[in-house]
Order: sequence, then C-alpha cells, then structure tokens
Amino acid sequence: MQTFTPLDPAGKTVGMYCCGPTVHDFAHIGNFRTFVFADLVRRYLEYQGFSPVHVMNITDVEDKIIKRVHEAKTSLREFTGKFETAFLDDLTSLNCLQPHHTPRATEHVPQMVDLIGKLMSRGIAYQAPDKSVYFSIKNYQGCGCGYGQLVKLNFDEMRPDKRVASDEYEKESAADFALWKARVSEDGEVFWPSPWGEGRPGWHIECSAMSMNLLGPSFDLHLGGEDLIFPHHEDEIAQSEGATGQPFVKHWMHGAHLLVEGKKMSKSLGNYFTLRDLLAKGFSGREIRYLLLTAHYRESFNFTLDGLCGARVALSRIDECLGKLRQTAGNTSAAPEPTVLARIIESLDEDLNISGAWGVVFEWVRELNRALAAHELMPEQAAAALAAWVQMDTIFGIGAKADTEMPAELLVLLDDRNAARKAKDFKRADSIRDELKSQGWVIDDTPTGARLKKL
Ligand code: AMP
Ligand code: ZN
Repeated sequence: MQTFTPLDPAGKTVGMYCCGPTVHDFAHIGNFRTFVFADLVRRYLEYQGFSPVHVMNITDVEDKIIKRVHEAKTSLREFTGKFETAFLDDLTSLNCLQPHHTPRATEHVPQMVDLIGKLMSRGIAYQAPDKSVYFSIKNYQGCGCGYGQLVKLNFDEMRPDKRVASDEYEKESAADFALWKARVSEDGEVFWPSPWGEGRPGWHIECSAMSMNLLGPSFDLHLGGEDLIFPHHEDEIAQSEGATGQPFVKHWMHGAHLLVEGKKMSKSLGNYFTLRDLLAKGFSGREIRYLLLTAHYRESFNFTLDGLCGARVALSRIDECLGKLRQTAGNTSAAPEPTVLARIIESLDEDLNISGAWGVVFEWVRELNRALAAHELMPEQAAAALAAWVQMDTIFGIGAKADTEMPAELLVLLDDRNAARKAKDFKRADSIRDELKSQGWVIDDTPTGARLKKL
C-alpha cells in the first residue's frame, strides 16, 4: 500500500483533473467508464476525509465540432450546448457527483494564449510560415526537460497523430505539435484573436491552461482514459512544465478501455452504445454504473448486453438482502458494522481494487442471507449491516433501488418532449408534460436543459 499525501500542506485539499468529453455527439459508455472511474476516485478520497477539488473540462472546440457546426449551419455554442447538457444529464443518470468545475475550452482562450506566450518567450514555441504556433520538442529538451515522462518514445518513428491538422507540414520536426492553429477558411466563424494572428487553440493546450488555471501550476491527480497517455498527456506535461518550470502533476491515473469483442469501444469503429441507447432498452443508470465499476480500473473488459443482465442480477441480490435486513431491523438503529467496512477499505487501498471490494460485498451478502434464513440475526445486527451499506455506498454510489431508479421510458419521453419543443409542436410538448406528471414526475427547465424531478 502506498500512502497518499496531498500537496496541500494541511493534507486536506486534493486537486484532481480528469480530461472531459469532446461535445460533438452523445458520449458512449466507453467514455463513461472513464468518468465513473474518476467519480469513484473522488468518492473514495472524500470517504477518506480529503477535500478533492474535481475539475473536468468540456472540449467544445475541435476539428469534428467545427465540421459539424458548419454542416448543421448553426453556431458553435448552440451545437455544443446541446451535447454538453446531455452529457451532464448522463452523469446524473449514472449517479456521478457533478465535478466542482466544468470549464469550457472556449471560455479559457485568453489563458491558453497567455500560456503559449510564456512558451514563446522561453524559446520553446515557434511560429511556422503557416502562421500556426508549434511546441518545439528539441528546444524543450534543450532546457533539460524530459519529453516522454509517461511513455518510452522512439523519436525516429514518431509521426504526427490523427488529431493534428493535415496542413502541419511546416513544422520543424514531426514530433512537434500545434499550440495555436492559424485560421483557415474551413473554420468559418470559429476563431479568436491572438498575438500570432486569428486562429484557435490546439487540443493539448486546452487542458494545461484550464487545469493550471483552476488548480495551480502543480496539482495532485490527473486522470483520463489510457488512450490519452500519448500524446495528449505527454504534451500537457511538456507545455505546462515548459511554461512554469514546475512539476505539473504528482500522480497520473489512467483507466483501461471498455472493449467490444476485444476492440476499444469507439465512435470510429461504430461498436458503441450511448448511455441513452441502453436506457431506451430498459436498463437503468444504476445497472450500467455497477457494470462499469465491476472491473479494476487498470483492466480492460468486454461490454456485452449479457454482462449488463448479469449486473441486474447482482444488484437484485444486494437489493433483496437489504430488503430483508430492513424488515428484520424494523425501527432499530445502530452504528455501522465495522468489519465489512474495514475489509472494503483494505481492498480499495490496494490501488483502488474495486473488484476485490465487490468480492467482500457479495461474501457479506451471502453470510447475511444465511444468518437471516436461520433467524440468527438480531434487529441490532441487521441495523448495523444496513448502516454499513449506507457508508460503503457513499463510495460505490449504487444506492438502493427505489432511490435512483428513473424508468428509462421517462427519459425517452423527456427527449421526445424536447424534440417537440424544438419543432415548436407545443401541443405535443404539453401533452408529454401531462403524461409525465401523471406518472409522478415534473419537468424542471433549467438554464442547462430540462431535467425530471419527482413530484
Ligand atoms: P473524448 O470525448 O473522445 O475526448 O473522450 C473522453 C474520455 O473517454 C477520455 O478520457 C477517453 O480516454 C475516454 N474513452 C474513450 N473511449 C473509451 C473506452 N472505450 N473505454 C474507456 N474510456 C474511453
Ligand atoms: Zn486533457
């Protein structure tokens, strides 16, 4: 076990940053595996008495977004706003705690320009003839800094990655990456002013600027999916340490991928389910969260609908046991049973071994069921077991069935109502509102979109 010591001299506040979604579409459950993992880390830190400051950026400017804005003949904000709201709603469906800060890239361009300015003044960045600004790996290394802190790199084999614009042949070296992309006609109205001319920030600089803006030049934890290790995170380190001269991040945690038949679930392979696809099939956010939380974060695993049905069965075993415990406990209350909690913590302290923790939970459920069936459990013991569940569930975030379950059809109805309003079919929108009300739910139209609240 490695003891976690935050940078905060008081040992309390923990700065944590998780690379957020690119809001060009609905996120798939592969993406959500990473965000549920970040939620688990945050909940565990809170359980241990730390005060994490959880930052998750919203990447709301990027090549694909610009292309789609252009095709849809809409504005950047209107286009990304829809998917950002959907994403935050999906986090709620998965019972993820909302991050404390969700900065949008488009609202931090001055901070990015400032950071690029620092790199320019230190001679680590240069403007190429195409007017774009690039990070110079050679000059960075010349300052005694290490490029390749997370991965071993072979510079001879390095080629520009897919996220780099095709017109970047003017770079001095193939390994260099764009900090500022000069405006081109395809960008339409998506551009910002800068000392190097109009343009837009590169993807990597967004995360350096937003994380350091909210958490300072050095912070404790940086998370993301394992596909981001290179080049994204390597470039974040280079830009940040190159500009500040200080260590950027103390601990990196990378979540392994969710796979489908052995391949990474991704938009480009088309082998994905969005959360909404699965809700529409009648699965609950709770079941999906549980499934995403079953494997150790360093282990990839295959998503299947059968696996999701297995999650339903596993949860019903917990629910049934909790139901019987409630009956036995009646009005008795008790302090949480400490042994099971200690075993769960012991497991999670070993590099967040969640699968081990679930093993403890199901062994405990089996033993409780046996004791309940044999009428050996006193009301105080049942109450202590229930109290232990409440405590461990502040980490798991699974909840009890009745607490979190929002029938999938209601979310589908809410989507229909949003579509009706958009199409100015107010009669249909009102009739859906009445239908939802008759089922005990009211629509709350917030500035970030419509949500359902229990009457
Ligand atoms: P994106 O919206 O593509 O920038 O991705 C958002 C987050 O989802 C990043 O942290 C990715 O690493 C993560 N991610 C993408 N695909 C998967 C997957 N199949 N399994 C786990 N995480 C993923
Ligand atoms: Zn990032």
